[in-house]
Amino acid sequence: MDPETRAVYARRWAELPERSRNPGQTIGRHAVGCEGTHGVFPRCNFSCQPCYHSADANHVRVDGPHTIARIREQMGLLRQARGPHGHAQLIGGEVSLLEPHDHAEALAVMRSFGRNPMSMTHGDFDYDYLRRVCVDGDGRPRFGYVSFAGHFDTTMIGRTGARRPVDEAELHGHRQAFCDMFARLYEEYGIRFYLAHNMTVTPANVEQIPEVIEACRHMGFKMFSFQPAAHVGNSVRWKDDYRSLEAEAVWALIEKGAGSRLPWEVLQVGDTRCNRTAWGFYVGNRWHSLLDDTNPRDLAARDRFFRHLGGVHFNAPPRLLAARLARVAASHPSTLATGLGWLARAIRRAGPVELFHHRPEPMTFVMHRFMHADDVAPAWELMQRGETATDEKILETQERLAACSYVMAHPESGQLVPACVQHSLLDPEENRQLAQLLPLPSRRRGTADPRPAPIR
Ligand code: SF4
Repeated sequence: MDPETRAVYARRWAELPERSRNPGQTIGRHAVGCEGTHGVFPRCNFSCQPCYHSADANHVRVDGPHTIARIREQMGLLRQARGPHGHAQLIGGEVSLLEPHDHAEALAVMRSFGRNPMSMTHGDFDYDYLRRVCVDGDGRPRFGYVSFAGHFDTTMIGRTGARRPVDEAELHGHRQAFCDMFARLYEEYGIRFYLAHNMTVTPANVEQIPEVIEACRHMGFKMFSFQPAAHVGNSVRWKDDYRSLEAEAVWALIEKGAGSRLPWEVLQVGDTRCNRTAWGFYVGNRWHSLLDDTNPRDLAARDRFFRHLGGVHFNAPPRLLAARLARVAASHPSTLATGLGWLARAIRRAGPVELFHHRPEPMTFVMHRFMHADDVAPAWELMQRGETATDEKILETQERLAACSYVMAHPESGQLVPACVQHSLLDPEENRQLAQLLPLPSRRRGTADPRPAPIR
């Protein structure tokens, strides 16, 4: 294990509140959590209801040099504070408003700091845009592998061909078209891809979750991530009482769509009131968990994985990874037997006959519950003073912020902040300043307004 990674993991584990230090916790044992950019291209050409960006975000011009410079600074701090490897989201705003070469350079800069970047997009762009991001002017692939998260749901207003979708099914064609672009990119240039599907959940579309999963799980997505809406960002765009969305009820609908119970405690990412994640794979129409949470031998295998393989960086070139695994097997020979035992049980659960007929398709289900700005503000204020809340709700918020698995970097202060804090507290002032630094071009008479249509 890389000594720097070891030190970062130890610090992350020590920072976790007691309730999150449990046998299934991945943070501090196999991961440091996710990272995201902020203030690098806050503008978006959609008008989602809700939107977690502050009202001024759409008054900031998209500016490639600004984007690249800020990303470089933010990645520098993340590299320094969180070690040589990480998963980072290239997120604004809408990433496809960047010129293709700026988008490509942003990804390259993130990679140069050891980050595995994922572009977060509404997916309303064409194949030519994607090709120009991923392929250089001489027709050579810039990357061997790309990772995108496509956000598709009925809270979004402005999509070409589905400006105000009435139900989720109306977007299935757009979801498929998004996946098809990447399949074509692979066919033409050999660029591999990982696609996640993001959906904001509101009282208006929550019941449609099962149908979305059932209809879209063969399209090419490897992850379905659901974000119950929170009262954060531009309050003009809040349309419902989002506090009515219960975690259990939403997860039950995700399970209904997956066609299986989704065990989320066996492997955890931070506080389970923020995140539920179920890693597994489909064989035919049946989803299987990577680990059987009812089998003590699978739980023992998980514990051994954390102990002996947790620090291995798996996203490495195959030869390097093989050498690392061989070293672990040589120094802890019993890990090999544990691994083979787990594999045999997984094959038995999936069914050898079914496996003969169907290739296993990895699929991860996620629920990420952002917190309401009204809860985050007092909790964070107390945390900055080193005080623990006495109010139960604010104490819960503090515990969740302390275990946060999704942070953003502030190189000017050296601080890493949870995304909830960024969007609840810091975005408004940051975007106000950016709107002065990077104002939109002024409108000339007779030309179209470059800003998205106002929301009433
Ligand atoms: S604190 Fe907020 S940003 Fe962090 S993991 Fe929890 S919900 Fe996500």
